[in-house]
Amino acid sequence: MSTRSPDAITAEPRDALVIGAGVIGLSVAVRLLEAGFRVRVCARSLPPALTSCIAAAFWYPYNVFPERRVRDWSRISYAVFTELATDPETGVRRVPTLELLPRALPRPGWSAMIPDFRLAAPEQLPAGYPAGFAFTSFVIETPIYLPWLLRRVRMLGGVIETRTLSSLAEAPPADVILNCAGLESRALVGDAALTPVRGQLVRVENPGIERVTIDEHSGADAITYIVPRARDVVLGGTVERGRVDLEPDPAITERILARCRALVPRLAHARVLESYVGLRPCRDVVRLEQDLGRAAGPPVIHNYGHGGAGVTLSWGCAHETLALVERARLLRTDALQAARRGARRARR
Ligand SMILES: Cc1cc2nc3c(=O)[nH]c(=O)nc-3n(C[C@H](O)[C@H](O)[C@H](O)COP(=O)(O)OP(=O)(O)OC[C@H]3O[C@@H](n4cnc5c(N)ncnc54)[C@H](O)[C@@H]3O)c2cc1C
Repeated sequence: MSTRSPDAITAEPRDALVIGAGVIGLSVAVRLLEAGFRVRVCARSLPPALTSCIAAAFWYPYNVFPERRVRDWSRISYAVFTELATDPETGVRRVPTLELLPRALPRPGWSAMIPDFRLAAPEQLPAGYPAGFAFTSFVIETPIYLPWLLRRVRMLGGVIETRTLSSLAEAPPADVILNCAGLESRALVGDAALTPVRGQLVRVENPGIERVTIDEHSGADAITYIVPRARDVVLGGTVERGRVDLEPDPAITERILARCRALVPRLAHARVLESYVGLRPCRDVVRLEQDLGRAAGPPVIHNYGHGGAGVTLSWGCAHETLALVERARLLRTDALQAARRGARRARR
């Protein structure tokens, strides 16, 4: 925690400490640097050894709340990914997407922000699916995108340090702390509301697939998706609440392959490259707020608990984090001025 005395706190705090170098922490770091803050990122692990690098990952506000804020965050990210997709170095690509439905369902609330969102044409639907949606989304190739984000942070002058904090009290001095520690916020700030939700994926060679296909309704602990990338295809997946072992289960791999091959028969002969597992940092609602329960030290803003949609929400949450930092700064300046006025009155 900051060792500065309250008198040493300036009215214009500029030093930000970001805990975490996943997609959430690095997006926040970029936004703060662009806004003129000095930023130090402190993380136990850097890409690629992170949940953020395991994500499939495509833009899709999957099972994450609260709905209205998620819609705003997703919209902002969609706009940023639209821009990033014009630069091949980012690993972000526009992709046609087909969502399969077990029956005609209302359009999701977020559909209004997507210009080409429409009902899928009957000839697009595989056998057994009576309805679907078609729209443009983005594939974010995390093995390219996360290193690109790291480079961007460094290019903007950010400092990245590998270090584990066992509590916020260990944080190096800063004017504001951004907690972007993902699932590890359970231990770091004692948040018992965070639950790991295991996701197993399979990576196969790409036999020429260019469209994302998703069926969210594949069963209680399953979600089926096919996410084409430049050189491979990520096939999903599972949704196993509370299970935390990271060893891929061969029986699950076979079930994922069978479901995906049934949807896209071209996958039948695609060579299997690997299976792997990640833990989604799930919470009833994303925690993006200033911690008002802290009696001392610099303001802390939490930004974690994005479940299976952290990449989708990343830029929107970074945008709101910056707004919260600015607000905390104003509140702090007001409080300091009030304290100084009080001290002057006491001296008179
Ligand atoms: C199988 C799977 C598929 C997914 N697919 C998608 C998808 O298609 N689209 C999508 O939008 N999302 C997807 N997600 C979700 C997405 O991966 C997560 O929501 C996102 O990665 C969370 O990012 P994060 O930065 O909060 O966490 P992380 O990536 O876990 O990063 C946390 C950071 O905090 C650091 N840290 C933790 N504790 C400490 C500590 N005590 N001290 C210092 N540093 C610490 C870590 O080292 C790390 O740098 C998927 C997730 C999984 C598991």
